[in-house]
Amino acid sequence: MNQPYDILIIGGGMTGASLAIALSGHGLHIGLVEAAPLKVDAVPNYDDRGIALSHGSQRIFSALGLWDAMHAQAQPIEHIHVSEQGGFGFTHLHAAEENVPALGQVITARDLGAALLPALEQCTDVEIIAPARVQWARVEDEYARIGLEDRELQSRLLIAADGGQSLVRNQLGFACRRREYQQSAIIANITPGRPHGNSAWERFTGHGPMAMLPMTGGRCALVWTVADTDVGQVLSLNDRDFLARVQQGFGWRLGKLQRCGKRSAYPLSQLWVPEAVQHRAVVIGNAAHTLHPVAGQGFNLGLRDVAVLAEVLLQAVRQGQDPGLLDSLGHYQQWRKNDQRGVVEITNLLVRGFSNQLLPMKLARNLGVLGLETLPPARHAIARAAMGLHGRLPRLSRGLPL
Ligand SMILES: Cc1cc2nc3c(=O)[nH]c(=O)nc-3n(C[C@H](O)[C@H](O)[C@H](O)COP(=O)(O)OP(=O)(O)OC[C@H]3O[C@@H](n4cnc5c(N)ncnc54)[C@H](O)[C@@H]3O)c2cc1C
Repeated sequence: MNQPYDILIIGGGMTGASLAIALSGHGLHIGLVEAAPLKVDAVPNYDDRGIALSHGSQRIFSALGLWDAMHAQAQPIEHIHVSEQGGFGFTHLHAAEENVPALGQVITARDLGAALLPALEQCTDVEIIAPARVQWARVEDEYARIGLEDRELQSRLLIAADGGQSLVRNQLGFACRRREYQQSAIIANITPGRPHGNSAWERFTGHGPMAMLPMTGGRCALVWTVADTDVGQVLSLNDRDFLARVQQGFGWRLGKLQRCGKRSAYPLSQLWVPEAVQHRAVVIGNAAHTLHPVAGQGFNLGLRDVAVLAEVLLQAVRQGQDPGLLDSLGHYQQWRKNDQRGVVEITNLLVRGFSNQLLPMKLARNLGVLGLETLPPARHAIARAAMGLHGRLPRLSRGLPL
């Protein structure tokens, strides 16, 4: 048995890597276990999906000293436009109205990985154990233990950042709430006929939501939700017919859509762990909450888990406490629970609420969205929440070091 870790993180995706970097440099013995070789081209989710980072997430990365390595690949979102196909309601959010340079930034998961993984390699107090897949996990009084193929590891605290299918979460018996949508997200990079003007578009169509996010190089990141039964057919369209289908749903705000890159599909469901801590273990990121990408909040929520957990743990350690005890983990759970529940419920409401095509429902939501357009305080509250700047903010979200 190796020397016990203070903190053992399972998963080197965006959440696990960010947390390891945040905890580094504070005298802790940290391990990070990742099933894939820890390289951008090998870790599965460092792919070409466009990630809309909220303004709050940008602040967290700035406070961690990571934003400089990201910003050249990121495109600011200055305006967000929400509308419904065949409806009269629409609303806008503007960075200038919120007194921020940008409501958020769009960067591919690959470029995020290209900034995170080299920074992680520089953290001499983080032992990277990869490729190595966790086979089992259990919690005992003094330590949490995990089994790899060839050895066992033990730690005062085990952090599961091992994604939506989390083995650690399942082995430790964390209860999950799940919702199936029978939908998939199709993503592709699209070159529009007109400049995107740093606008993000969220369009609710009869077949599901469609987002067009501004990217570098004048491109847009398309995230289009389709029924699972239609995925094969949509993926098999040639580029011209695919662009025509997207144009039909999205309309002509960006002129004639010119070109599209590689298409990929992701099956969608929702998962939430309402009680994400137990003695010596905590579940974060997609392992704790996997969301429909309609509002682009999945990783933003996970990064806020990182910011709060790092603050709570370091505070406990500085006071000489054991980081695996429920005292500090309970504090984390209390702090995070409203934000997690709120984002989970709002995301679900958007998916369900906008998929109902009955005329009274359509009328009600168009009036609601239009009403929002005429109510600046309500728009402001929504903008603050979308920027990850609501509720009690941890130090990193305020741009302060830990
Ligand atoms: C189409 C799409 C668009 C999206 N757009 C946005 C967006 O605009 N904004 C946003 O904020 N979010 C967005 N998201 C969500 C975002 O991609 C996820 O929230 C994020 O990738 C989750 O990261 P994670 O590190 O928590 O989990 P993962 O990326 O799943 O990482 C988990 C890691 O754990 C490793 N692992 C798993 N099991 C084991 C094991 N047994 N042993 C060792 N290692 C293991 C895996 O190899 C993996 O590297 C989008 C998602 C999709 C599908």
